Amino acid sequence: MHGTANWQKRRAAQLASEPLCRKCKANGLVVSATVADHIEPHRGDPEKFWTGELQSLCDHCHNSLKQKEERRDESLETDADGVVAESLFGEGRV
Ligand SMILES: [Zn+2]
Repeated sequence: MHGTANWQKRRAAQLASEPLCRKCKANGLVVSATVADHIEPHRGDPEKFWTGELQSLCDHCHNSLKQKEERRDESLETDADGVVAESLFGEGRV
């Protein structure tokens, strides 16, 4: 659903109306938002996806938010890849 033209429009409208990351702003930081995030996870529900309220986030805040959600219900998110494990594995070696 995220690839559709309608979503691109919604996302652009959200970022235009709220150009700064909401979470960073709450912490007193000014960071450009790049992600229009559903405040309430839509979980594939078209109704929530198209009408649910959005918030603007930067990549960093969006990723940390999504990681928390994925831990909460791992069964719903199956597109995790091996990038994290790989970077952990590669670090700390001399
Ligand atoms: Zn942020």
